[in-house]
Amino acid sequence: LVIDKTGTLTEGKPKLTAVVTVPGIDDAKLLRLAASLERGSEHPLAAAIVSGAQERGVELTTASAFESKTGKGVSGEVDDHKVSLGNQALVQNFSDMALKEQAESLRRLGQTVMLVSVDGAVVGLIAVADPIKDSTPDAIKQVHEERIRIVMLTGDSEVTARAVASKLNLDDVYAEVLPQQKLEIIKRLQSEGHKVAMAGDGINDAPALAQADVGIAMGTGTDVAMESGAITLVKGDLRGIVRAIRLSRATMRNIKQNLFFAFLYNALGIPIAAGVLYPLSGVLLSPMIAAAAMSFSSVSVIANSLRLRKLSI
Ligand code: ADP
Ligand code: MG
Repeated sequence: LVIDKTGTLTEGKPKLTAVVTVPGIDDAKLLRLAASLERGSEHPLAAAIVSGAQERGVELTTASAFESKTGKGVSGEVDDHKVSLGNQALVQNFSDMALKEQAESLRRLGQTVMLVSVDGAVVGLIAVADPIKDSTPDAIKQVHEERIRIVMLTGDSEVTARAVASKLNLDDVYAEVLPQQKLEIIKRLQSEGHKVAMAGDGINDAPALAQADVGIAMGTGTDVAMESGAITLVKGDLRGIVRAIRLSRATMRNIKQNLFFAFLYNALGIPIAAGVLYPLSGVLLSPMIAAAAMSFSSVSVIANSLRLRKLSI
């Protein structure tokens, strides 16, 4: 089971937790530049920054020349400044040691750190945390009980990803991956012989969702996720995945039982109708009994299938 970090494991409502700036620029100014830009983005991180700025009473303005770089961040012009906001891959001239240390310690707490570059140099950072859902540890235990490995895929930094993965007892983690690489990782896992289910919100992971053997769209996500996925979890709760797995396993078991019933009637009935017993005992299958057996085979299959309704998952 491969999980995209934003959208599943967490509450899906990331919150702004810290703003750190270098001398010469204050928090409010940095937030104004960053949040004004983020109004143009549909990423959950953007929503966190915009509402965090509003909660802190920062007034926003309109940005121009807005550009969104998939899996990296956003850039544009605000208040006559060139502003970029995103991960390490997006920004240049990041040299402030104090800021670097702050970034690492926030990442070690499992927070997502976005660097803010103004007119070509990184002058601050914004951290966002998405609290782990109360139900997640239990859901992960249940997935493990089904003997399924859980792997996290994320465009976020290695340090943040490792912090989250170890807190949650995940089996493996791929960090700093771009959307195209998410697709490649799914393909590679498949070529290693794994059956891959992928859960995501459709933001930067729709191709990976479509490539997985089973795509699971989180209902808190986007329409494209539901288009690409085979399963939609309406409540965005990871335990829904466990229930889906149990239901699908029970369904496969049921299908096999049904095939057994269907073949059993035919395997016995057809040879008797063809006369295998006739030379010994003179027994043939009367068409009336054959017709009844045919119907009973359908009845047994349907009755057995209906048991799925009573299944407790
Ligand atoms: P994930 O795989 O965790 O869903 P994404 O691939 O969507 O992450 O994004 C990867 C990284 O790119 C984020 O952790 C963030 O640093 C940066 N990023 C993406 N979109 C934005 C945005 N709108 N604003 C700021 N940073 C962004
Ligand atoms: Mg995502």
